[in-house]
Formats: sequence, structure tokens, C-alpha cells
Amino acid sequence: MLLPPTDSKIVARRAEIVAALKDIVPDGVVADPSGLATFDSDALSAYHQMPLVCVLPSNREQVSAILKFAQAEGVPIVPRGAGTSLSGGALPREDGILIGMGRMKRIIEIDYENGCVVVEPGVTNLNITKAVEANGFYYAPDPSSQIACTIGGNVAENSGGLHCLKYGLTTNNLLGVTFVLPGGEIVTLGGKSGAQGGLDLLGLVTGSEGLLGVVVEVVVKILRKAPVTRTLLASFDSVPAAGACVAAIIADGVVPAAMEFMDRRAAEAIESYNQPGYPSGAEAILIIDADLQDPPELLAPMLQAMRESGADVVYGVRRSRSGETAFKRATAHGFYRLLSRATEVDIPLDAGDFRLMSRRALDALLAMPEQARFIRGMVAWIGFKQVPFAYDRQTRFAGETKYPLRKMIRFALDALTGFSSAPLKLASHVGFGLSVGSVLLVLYIAYAWLSGRSIQGWTSLMLIVVILGAIQMFVLALMGEYIGRLYNEAKKRPLYIVEEIAGGDGQNARLGYLADATAKSDRPGGKGKRPTK
Ligand SMILES: Cc1cc2nc3c(=O)[nH]c(=O)nc-3n(C[C@H](O)[C@H](O)[C@H](O)COP(=O)(O)OP(=O)(O)OC[C@H]3O[C@@H](n4cnc5c(N)ncnc54)[C@H](O)[C@@H]3O)c2cc1C
Repeated sequence: MLLPPTDSKIVARRAEIVAALKDIVPDGVVADPSGLATFDSDALSAYHQMPLVCVLPSNREQVSAILKFAQAEGVPIVPRGAGTSLSGGALPREDGILIGMGRMKRIIEIDYENGCVVVEPGVTNLNITKAVEANGFYYAPDPSSQIACTIGGNVAENSGGLHCLKYGLTTNNLLGVTFVLPGGEIVTLGGKSGAQGGLDLLGLVTGSEGLLGVVVEVVVKILRKAPVTRTLLASFDSVPAAGACVAAIIADGVVPAAMEFMDRRAAEAIESYNQPGYPSGAEAILIIDADLQDPPELLAPMLQAMRESGADVVYGVRRSRSGETAFKRATAHGFYRLLSRATEVDIPLDAGDFRLMSRRALDALLAMPEQARFIRGMVAWIGFKQVPFAYDRQTRFAGETKYPLRKMIRFALDALTGFSSAPLKLASHVGFGLSVGSVLLVLYIAYAWLSGRSIQGWTSLMLIVVILGAIQMFVLALMGEYIGRLYNEAKKRPLYIVEEIAGGDGQNARLGYLADATAKSDRPGGKGKRPTK
């Protein structure tokens, strides 16, 4: 980086400049070398340069007077917040006045009715949230440096953090600023309503890195905290697989409040520093319903159960089911008992998709090429040691069920035809019973005819024809289900095709598929992403 050349004429007038600044801010001028050394860099610490002088104003009038003086004397200025910028924005000039805004740190007004806070520029980002969190509010943009960085610096850098994904950057949460122009004039842009006529000057100031003037007051939006927040950690074997998962989440219309990605090296560095317990190598995966019916907090005890039992699958068994209709509970209860009688596979009762699986169990599951994927049955099919984990299923926190009655029937049919040939056996039993019945009927008719009795006719005949016809149609439909299933399986189409993998190899391609396949569990017919090219 090339620093601007120093104007020696300004440096020669240093004593005079310091004296003038002391007139404006008597208690806030730093001019001694040891004091100035603390301001010689920002977080881009490869570059250091002592300022000519540093001044620490306490109010906007002082800022205005400093800027008026600097412009009149032709002295450059550099505003500074907490000096955490990583771009050298707050790096001082040898021939310039550094204006430190750290003393202007009053929270001027908290206006819950209008959902905003008015602050001075030296208030740290985190302190805005701290001021309102007791009342259930927070300030959304959250740079990782939020404990130190100032809101003035945030405006100048248009900063953001994890919450940007959903709530945007500083510019999306800024309603107004009061600003001192280089000549000392104080202007206000926007306000509590955020409204400003004409050009979007507020947008222009945001991200201007202190080049247009000095921010002396800021109005920001505050938001209500979500009534409940759950944090999930998901682990992937490759960066493309993680990226595909993020894209799939967003494409599904879900915008998480925050999302952060760490590659293996970052995770390992953090793990070795303070051992938060990040998974290394993703040896297991948790499948969970996204509307918080399955409590994410149970991951830790499930993991413990997996370790203690040496099982490859720990599946959730619903002790109770809150927030579901009596009809849903009764049909689910009946269906799983019927299925368990109809199939030879040991599909656990009252278990859903909430389960923890080891890597090898997951790989075995994903190796199954079935198109109509009744995952609960498929997991039971793969074997391995599987242990139950009893839990209370919660009321859905948000959203609505994606399984209306029509889909439930399809789902049940898939489960039955995929895991049991009992319906076909039932059809043959019915056929056999009817054959026996018809032989008996023929014998009875023969007997009646020989004994000279007439058989009352048309109505009973039609009844028999209609019943037989219905049964035949039912049996045909049942066979059709099985044949349709065979037809689909015989085509051997891939379930999903990953269109593009950055830097991909065979391994990554498999993982891309994996991310999709797990995301679409239990969708009859595999409604995955179909190839477009
Ligand atoms: C560990 C770490 C993590 C970080 N994480 C993030 C992150 O997640 N997201 C992100 O966006 N940034 C991040 N940053 C960068 C930095 O924290 C932000 O840019 C922050 O907004 C800077 O604020 P500050 O108060 O430290 O400003 P400074 O560094 O002091 O100044 C930054 C710029 O703003 C100008 N400025 C400061 N105050 C004013 C004012 N009152 N009026 C006009 N101009 C002013 C300065 O002249 C300079 O150009 C991180 C930095 C560190 C060190």
C-alpha cells in the first residue's frame, strides 16, 4: 500500500495546530509520542504511522469546529472509531489530524414505539443490543468485532455480520445520520422514520469510509428478538457439499437468521484454541424436522447414547406428540402397527425421521437405489445396531405440515408396497376364499335344481357380480401399484444429479448427491432436483 506523501509544511506548523485544537477541545488533545503511538494503526496492523496530532471531541460542536479549522488551514483529517477496520481506513497521516470519536458514546434515546435507537457514533455495536435486550429487542448487524467496533465505524464501512443474510448490512438498518461536512456544516439525513426526500444521500454516506465527513449521530432500527432461537451445526465432507446445502436451504424459501461457514482448517484452528467440540470428519449425521418438533438439544444425549451403546443408529421414539390432531395421532398409531404386522422388516413403532446415524450407516442407506424412498423402512432394512431414544415431540414452532391427507395416503401406500408383499398375499387369500365360495354356490345351485326348488334370482345375482367385480378391480389396482413400482425401479434413473461442482472429483460428486438425498428424505417418488442440462 502506498501512503500519501507527507506535507512537510503542515508538519512544520504542528505546535500551532496543536494549540488551536486545544482551544477547541481543551481536555481532549493527544500530542505526546507515547499517547500518539496507541493510534498509529488500525487492525491492518502491517501499516503504522503516527498522526500529527489526535483530538478526542465530546460533542458535535467540537467536531464541527475541528473540521472548520482543518479546512481553513488545509490540514487533512482522518476520523477514527475503535480502529478495528481491516482496510487501513483509520490509518493516520503524519501531516493530519486524527479525530477519535470514542468519547462520543452516549445512547441518546431508545424509542421502542418507533423501533429505533438514537446514539452517538462512539457507541459500540454490541452496546446498542445490550441497551435494548432486556426489553426483547436487538440491533441486527453484528460484525464479529461488535464488542469493540463503533456504530460510526459501522456506518463508514457499511459493516455486517452473521445476521446479514436475513436482516441486511448496516445500510439496511440505518434510519438516519447527523453528519459534519468538511467545512463544519452539520447536516441531518433521514431520521426515525428513515424518510429522506430526493436522492438517497444516506445510502451515499453509508460505506463512504470517512471521506465525506464525520458522523456525529446515528439512528438505527432495532428488531424484536425471535421468541425462540435454535442453533444447528451441520458437518460436511467437502466445501461443495456444504455450499450445495446452503443453496438448497435458500432455494427452499427458508432464510435462516444467520449462517456461517467454516472450512476444516478454520474449524481445527478454533478447536485447538478453545475446544468448542466441533465435529472432526463428520462421523455422524442428525436428521431432524426443521420446525422444532424434534428438539435440537437432544443431539448431545443422543450422541452419548450412540457412544455408550456402540450403535450405528439412534432413532427417536415419540413418547408423546404435542400439537397434532387426534385424527393424525390415531391414524399414525394404527398405520405403524399395521405396517409392523405386514412386513418382515423390523420397522420401529412410533418412530419418525428424527435419528442420529453413523457415517457407515448413512453410506449404506445412500447406496440403496430405490426411487420411492420410505426412509424409515430403509433405515430399518440396512441393519447395524439400532437403539431407540424416547423423547417428547414438541408442537410445531412455525410453518405448516407438508403432508396433507392425500400425501399421507401416498406415503402409506409407498411404505406398504415397498416393504411388504402382504397386500398381494391378502389378494390371493381373498381370491381363494371367493373360489371356495363360488364352488359352494355351484353345489348349492345344483342341489336346489335337483330338489326342484327355484333360486330367487336377479338381485342376488347382481349383488354377487358387483362384489366380485369390485374385488377384482381392487386386486388389479394393487397389482398395478406393484408393477408401477417395478417399472420405476427398472428405469434406474439417478435420484438427483448435481449439475456443477467447483473443483469437483468423484468423491465430491457423491457428497453433493448425499446432501440432496438427505435433504429430501421420505419424499415419495424422490422429488429431487432433476437434471436440466
Ligand atoms: C476481529 C475482527 C473481526 C471483524 N469482523 C467484521 C465483520 O464480521 N464484518 C465487518 O463488516 N467488519 C468486520 N471487521 C472490520 C471492522 O470491525 C469494521 O469495519 C468496523 O465497522 C470498523 O469500526 P471501527 O469503529 O473500528 O472503525 P475504524 O476502524 O476506527 O474506522 C473505520 C473507517 O470508518 C471511518 N470512521 C470511523 N468513525 C467514523 C465516524 N464517526 N464518521 C465518519 N467516518 C468514521 C474511519 O475513517 C475509517 O475509514 C472486523 C475487524 C476485526 C479486527
